[in-house]
Amino acid sequence: MATIGFIGLGNMGGPMAVNLVKAGHSVKVFDLVADNVAKVVAEGASAAATAADVVTDVEFVISMLPAGKHVKSLFISQEGVAKHIAKGAMVIDSSTIDAASAKEVGEHLSSMDIKFVDAPVSGGVAGAQGGTLTFIVGGSEACFAAAKPILEGMGKNIFHAGDIGAGQVAKICNNMLLAILMTGTSEALQMGIKHGLDPKVLSDIMLQSSGRNWTLELYNPCPDVLPNVPSSKNYEGGFMVDLMKKDLGLAMEAANQSQSMTPMGALAQNLYQILSAQGQGNKDFSSIFQLFEQNK
Ligand code: NAD
Repeated sequence: MATIGFIGLGNMGGPMAVNLVKAGHSVKVFDLVADNVAKVVAEGASAAATAADVVTDVEFVISMLPAGKHVKSLFISQEGVAKHIAKGAMVIDSSTIDAASAKEVGEHLSSMDIKFVDAPVSGGVAGAQGGTLTFIVGGSEACFAAAKPILEGMGKNIFHAGDIGAGQVAKICNNMLLAILMTGTSEALQMGIKHGLDPKVLSDIMLQSSGRNWTLELYNPCPDVLPNVPSSKNYEGGFMVDLMKKDLGLAMEAANQSQSMTPMGALAQNLYQILSAQGQGNKDFSSIFQLFEQNK
C-alpha cells in the first residue's frame, strides 16, 4: 500500500481521498477549507497543516484543484512546495486544466527528478463517491503503469491517452460534448413540458429512443425526474456552472490552437456564460435547464 498526499478536497477530491483510505493507503490531506479537511479526516485520513507538509514523505501527491492557475501556483510558484516532494515520487494532477499548463508543471517537476502525469476524470461526484471514475491519463508508459494501481482505488476505467497533456485534451473533448448534450437535453425537455408533457414520461420515451444520452439517463436536468441528482436538490453540489464555463473556455482555446471547427461548443460556451452572469455560477451545470424556463 502506498503513502499519498492529497490536495484539494472539494466536491470531487473529498470522496476520492476517502476511497484511497478505504483502499488501504496511508493518506495525508490538505485543503484551504478546514471543513473539507475535517470530513476526510473523519473517514481515516490524517490532516496536514500546510501544502508543504502534505507533500513531504509520500510516494504519490494527488491534486484535485479548480483550474490551471491553482495547479501552477502550487507546484511552480509557491515558494518551496515542490522541493518538499521526494525525488522519484510522482505527482498525479486530476484537475481539469489546459494541456499547456500540464506540460509546464510536468517539465518543472521533471527538472527536480519528480515524475508527473495529468489524470483528469470523468464521472462526476457520484463517480467520485462510488469509486467508479474514468481516469484519462497523459504521461510516459512507465509513469502510467506506476499510477494505475493508485487510480484503481478511485476509478473503474483507466485510459492512457498519450504523453503529458493528452489526458487534458481528451477530457476537454468529452466535456465540450457533455455541455452540448446537457444543453440539448434541457431544451428538448422544456419544449415537451411547455406542450403539457410529463417530464418523467418524456424522459422514459427519449431513453428508449434515439435521443438517449448520459445527461438524460443519469443526470436528468429536470427536477424530480431522478432522485439524488443535483436538479432534485435545488441544483446544489455536483459540477459547478463556473467549472463548466472554464472547461468550455479550455475547449475553445484548444479548438483555436488546432484550427478545429466547434460551432456547437461555442454556442454551449455562450449559454453557460449567460447562466453564470445571471448569478448561477455556484449551481450545478444541469441548472442550464432553468435558462430555457425563463423564456415564457
Ligand atoms: P471544488 O471547487 O468543489 O473543489 C476544489 C477544492 O480545492 C476546494 O475544496 C478548494 O478549497 C481547494 N483548493 C483550491 N485551491 C487550493 C490550494 N491552493 N490548496 C489547497 N486546496 C485548494 O471543485 P471540484 O468540483 O471538486 O472540481 C475539482 C476539479 O475537478 C476541477 O478542475 C473540475 O473541473 C474537475 N472535475 C469536476 C467534476 C465535478 O463533477 N465536480 C467532474 C470532473 C472533473
